[in-house]
Formats: sequence, C-alpha cells, structure tokens
Amino acid sequence: MSEIINRTGQPWAEHEDAVLIKGYKNGKPVLLIAETLNRSPGSVRGRASLLNLKKGQAADDYEPSLEIATCSHCGQANLSDPLDCNCPEARREARIQAQIDKARERIKQLFGENAAERGFAPIHSTDTLDLMNDVVTLIANHAIKNATLQITGRCKAKISLTAKGSIKVGRTETTTYQL
Ligand SMILES: [Zn+2]
Repeated sequence: MSEIINRTGQPWAEHEDAVLIKGYKNGKPVLLIAETLNRSPGSVRGRASLLNLKKGQAADDYEPSLEIATCSHCGQANLSDPLDCNCPEARREARIQAQIDKARERIKQLFGENAAERGFAPIHSTDTLDLMNDVVTLIANHAIKNATLQITGRCKAKISLTAKGSIKVGRTETTTYQL
C-alpha cells in the first residue's frame, strides 16, 4: 500500500521543481500538480511564484536535469529514481539492492579481479563469478539461506546470510600438496 506523506512545508527537491515547471509549462491545473507532489495547492502556487512561473509559459530555457520516473510499487510519478520513493515496498527493494551490491563487492574482493591484493589467486571464469552473484541475489530475496561452492582445484566459497541480515562471503583455500 502507498504511504501518503503530506510534503507541505518541506523544502522543494530538484525533481519536485521539475514536475512543477513541467506542469506549469503544459498548463496543468494547480490541483493536479499539487496532488502529484503530495503538496497543498497553496504550496504549489507559492513555489511557482517564487520561480516566476506563469501558466503555459514557464521558462523555456529550463531543462530538468532529472528524468521523471514512476515508482513501480505505489505509482508516485514525481521521482528521479524509482528507488528514491519513500513507500515501504520501494524502501525494502532499495535495502535488498544495497545488500546485493555490498555482497557482490565482497565477491570481487575475494574472488574477482581484486583477489590478488589479499594474496589470493583471482578466479578467471566469469561463469563461476556470475554463479556467485546469482547466489547473492537468491539469498537477498530469501530464496536460499546459504551456499558453499567447491571451486575445482582452488578453493571453497561460502556465501551466507548473517543473523543481522547482511550477506557474508568467505573464501577458504584448499590447496593440498602431494609429493
Ligand atoms: Zn513508491
């Protein structure tokens, strides 16, 4: 469900100005712009006069630097990045994505191109690294809890979810010598 936040009184963000300016340029009713932005019509009119906007003739040289996107969860249309939305679903998705990004960075450190900095031999098979990244996604989405991969002739990789909810990546060398 969407969380309705009345943004009246809060400072105007760049993407909100972009919505406002676009709305005025296209002659959209103030009420509609206010609804899109979750602000009061008074707040919209105030901001518009501050920016010297007039209906249907907003500054032509203004180019919004941000694309206007829509949150795929709640449908709010005033976002520069759908992951910026404040609704619970979007925040959850952003949290999961952050977990995935962090764990993939750990894989890069321990198994990928940066492994040598830690004294490990990098794994050159991109398929193997892709598999580890896929495991991370599955763990982040709570499809699996952990996975251990025995990488042929090299090492063991363990990827698991900690009690605190972050994704731990471990590497164990399994080199054996037989003379
Ligand atoms: Zn949303």
